[in-house]
Amino acid sequence: MTKLSELGPQHAVTVHIPPDARNDSDFYRCETCGQIVDLKDMRQVMWHQLQGDHEPLELDS
Ligand SMILES: [Zn+2]
Repeated sequence: MTKLSELGPQHAVTVHIPPDARNDSDFYRCETCGQIVDLKDMRQVMWHQLQGDHEPLELDS
């Protein structure tokens, strides 16, 4: 499992909000791995959205 910190520092950028994400929530469930993704953390968003097939991230922060 890949550690969140191995993906580098967090960047403040605009992220794509999946259509199934609730408007009042910063979290959504990844359809690929089933993990809850924090939309405020670009590292998590990139991990789950830029890879077609992946494992859940190990959250260490
Ligand atoms: Zn995922």
